[in-house]
Amino acid sequence: MKKARVVVVGAGVVGFSTAVCIAEALPMCSVTLLADKFSPNTTSDGAAGILLAVEFPDIPLERQRRWFKDSFDHLLAIAQSQHSPEAGVILSSGWQIFKEVPVDKLPFWSELVIGFRLMTDCELKRFPQHKFGQAFTTIKCECSSYLPWLENRFIKAGGEVKQRKVNSLEELSSSYDIIVNCSGLGSKNLVGDTQVYPVRGQVLKVEAPWLQHFIRDGDGKAYIYPGIHSVTVGGTRQEGDWRLQVDEEDTRSIMERCSRLEPSLSKAKVLSEWVGLRPNRKNPRVERVLVHLQGCRVPVVHNYGHGSCGVTLAWGTALDAVGLVRQCLNEMLLEAKL
Ligand SMILES: Cc1cc2nc3c(=O)[nH]c(=O)nc-3n(C[C@H](O)[C@H](O)[C@H](O)COP(=O)(O)OP(=O)(O)OC[C@H]3O[C@@H](n4cnc5c(N)ncnc54)[C@H](O)[C@@H]3O)c2cc1C
Repeated sequence: MKKARVVVVGAGVVGFSTAVCIAEALPMCSVTLLADKFSPNTTSDGAAGILLAVEFPDIPLERQRRWFKDSFDHLLAIAQSQHSPEAGVILSSGWQIFKEVPVDKLPFWSELVIGFRLMTDCELKRFPQHKFGQAFTTIKCECSSYLPWLENRFIKAGGEVKQRKVNSLEELSSSYDIIVNCSGLGSKNLVGDTQVYPVRGQVLKVEAPWLQHFIRDGDGKAYIYPGIHSVTVGGTRQEGDWRLQVDEEDTRSIMERCSRLEPSLSKAKVLSEWVGLRPNRKNPRVERVLVHLQGCRVPVVHNYGHGSCGVTLAWGTALDAVGLVRQCLNEMLLEAKL
């Protein structure tokens, strides 16, 4: 039987996770991944890669819990395997601290990470500006290693990779049966989504091998995440800001905020600075639609708009996307029979 031709647009963590999941789960499909930018030049490459979720307002919590759990379990298995250093996936323990006690003391993901507990007063003494804290072990997934690792896995599963900018979905409709859109912020132009917008983030990589625990301020404006080769120090959350160049004032204020939490950072050597644009949306878009392209109805599966949680949720939303592609295939089969 002829294979169904599936194209995945996007080579960030969402695109590659989705492409791998489809190629491995649906052998009746030939899968091609198209993107204009690949590792190390995607947003995903510079993400700190810590698994931590925010709560999206209009997506059932059960679905968000499943996205988190599927991603966590998948990455935990890698972190505990021989592939950990090569894939850039490690366990990471530390503290999330708050200046004011949050409404949600126990976030929905608290039972999905390892050993979640509230910090004791004694532990909090170290952070005099903070009243409340959570201690847990999560995962750090470094996409500059993880994306090439996923690409290899995709190719082993029979996938094909091509570098190309897609200007409109019409360009794809004659060569592919199903289009899977994982273009992140690119969806603003590619599918005309006015709901997706950038939230600029600037981070530094520093050399500080003595740091072993992460520290994150609950407001997301100060975090210190030790990784395999360096420590990621951040950050900023500038809504609607498209600037990709490093801002020296941001660097100064990041170091100031983070040194307040971890004074030894003043001894750390700055290795690099980086800016990325989070593909924010009120809710990520993980859904199937039929689009009229060149006189035909073409199934399109969207999977984008993960904001600050793309690394955290990529595998979970990729599994949902596989289910949506499967539904497209069933409908195509049914139509062929009628
Ligand atoms: C400073 C910072 C820190 C972060 N820290 C974390 C963290 O700790 N944990 C976490 O979970 N998340 C974090 N994030 C968020 C995370 O980086 C994003 O959610 C994630 O990278 C989104 O992945 P993506 O694959 O959707 O998009 P991207 O990585 O941006 O990939 C989009 C892909 O689509 C392609 N594309 C777009 N348009 C087109 C087109 N027209 N034609 C062809 N190709 C196209 C691009 O070339 C690219 O390959 C952070 C982000 C920033 C900026």
